[in-house]
Amino acid sequence: MPQETHPAIVWFRYDLRLHDQDALAYAIEQGHEILPVFIWAPDEESPWEPGGASRWWLHHALADLDTQLRDYGSRLIIRTGQSTQAELQKLIKETGAKSIFWNRRYEPAGIKRDSRIKSALKEQNLNVQSFNATLLYDPTKIKNKSGTPFKVFTPFWKHLRTVDLPKERPVDLDSLKSVKKFPKSLPLESLNLLPRISWDHGWLEMWQPQRENLLTRLRDFGKNQAASYEDQRDFPAIDGTSQLSPAFHFGQIGPREAFQHIRKQGKHDPALETGVLRQLYWREFANHLLFHFPHTSEAPLRPEYQSFPWQEDPSFLRAWQRGETGYPIVDAGMRQLWQTGWMHNRVRMIVASVLVKHLLQHWMEGAKWFWDTLVDANLANNTFGWQWTAGCGADAAPYFRVFNPIMQGEKFDPQGKYIKKFLPELEKLPKKYIHQPWELGALELRGLGVTLDKDYPSPIIPHPEGRQRALDAFAELKKRNTA
Ligand SMILES: Cc1cc2nc3c(=O)[nH]c(=O)nc-3n(C[C@H](O)[C@H](O)[C@H](O)COP(=O)(O)OP(=O)(O)OC[C@H]3O[C@@H](n4cnc5c(N)ncnc54)[C@H](O)[C@@H]3O)c2cc1C
Repeated sequence: MPQETHPAIVWFRYDLRLHDQDALAYAIEQGHEILPVFIWAPDEESPWEPGGASRWWLHHALADLDTQLRDYGSRLIIRTGQSTQAELQKLIKETGAKSIFWNRRYEPAGIKRDSRIKSALKEQNLNVQSFNATLLYDPTKIKNKSGTPFKVFTPFWKHLRTVDLPKERPVDLDSLKSVKKFPKSLPLESLNLLPRISWDHGWLEMWQPQRENLLTRLRDFGKNQAASYEDQRDFPAIDGTSQLSPAFHFGQIGPREAFQHIRKQGKHDPALETGVLRQLYWREFANHLLFHFPHTSEAPLRPEYQSFPWQEDPSFLRAWQRGETGYPIVDAGMRQLWQTGWMHNRVRMIVASVLVKHLLQHWMEGAKWFWDTLVDANLANNTFGWQWTAGCGADAAPYFRVFNPIMQGEKFDPQGKYIKKFLPELEKLPKKYIHQPWELGALELRGLGVTLDKDYPSPIIPHPEGRQRALDAFAELKKRNTA
């Protein structure tokens, strides 16, 4: 192993793990003394600086990373400031580091900032290296036959299945050498990542954001749920999906590790490839899209949707955010989001559809609310999910296909178990009416403890009307684009 005399900074970002971590592996392989660093500079992420729920997770992930590093005689150095570059320069000066290694980020603000930093550090003749540890494949390397990025999922997926799956990168942690003297670190608490008003009790009940617990979840999922994923994934009352999205977002588990683990544990069952492993390709697809089309976090991928006739209405938006639309499956989803920082994928699709179609609120309003309230808020996946639903993104559902929130509820929560968990006020309703309480007479409803518009709202807009509004808006869009 080469022996470097100068320390190397390993700059941690959304790769908060010691395993399968390319930048760290490389620094150890080169024999450097290592200085693990995290810099909090949220202004540089603008306009998508991490939201409240995401900051909460980040706090715990950083605390856990520090604990893991201490097991190897190291520790996490935390700094904050308006400029990451300035903070890195200070650390370089304080420690005499001549090398800086990191794993690449692929969203617009991260790319811009990292490129600027890379050029500046290279000009100072420092050894700067970046790696891919966040995605299965580097987006610059994956193109279709015409040499352009894929815009449709199925060919993207088929193509990647013909390419070798990248292997995990071993990290020889036993050879990790720490710097002789650690520079000063800020206490994690000083970053103020935890919510000021106590909003997190439901999160604490649902999540254990430490890597060891997340690995246990991965193993349990691989053992008990992965094989039946395809049959169960759409039913929000069933614990049928991995719930590992925040772990992937913060890089506490990398996609190569998850992929290989699930494949191996499932004894290479082909059903896994078209089940949960396919979802990891959706994550890959969303990230590649945002990399190639960085404007899409704020604007539709399909430019004709720029002139969509949204009808801004703060009262609609507020009712949706609070889970007071009168559609039980939507309201249960929005309450799940508020209480736990997470929402089941099927329900994400339903609530998003009602916001952009029935209520004609701009998809960005929904994306922003999710951004602040999801522990797994991820720019690529969130942008992709919202644009898919609004019909303006890659491979999107056609705009004229309008989800019926009553039928979606009946199909995917037939017993109303999910609804009753998050809307206890509807606890006594029989399953026949749980998806449309207003169909029961006022007297009968009162017998079940519900007075409409007092205990639970009537539908914010009746479904046929909502559907018609969406179709009219779509017709208007077509007219605007042909005028
Ligand atoms: C409107 C909308 C907004 C969304 N916003 C986000 C977001 O901010 N962050 C986020 O991680 N996901 C987002 N998703 C995608 C998806 O809902 C979540 O990834 C999934 O529900 C997470 O649960 P899980 O970990 O149990 O997923 P699993 O079903 O166990 O899937 C495993 C992993 O695959 C990835 N994945 C699964 N489905 C998708 C998908 N449709 N698109 C991209 N990746 C996927 C995730 O990383 C997930 O953890 C959004 C979807 C919609 C419709």
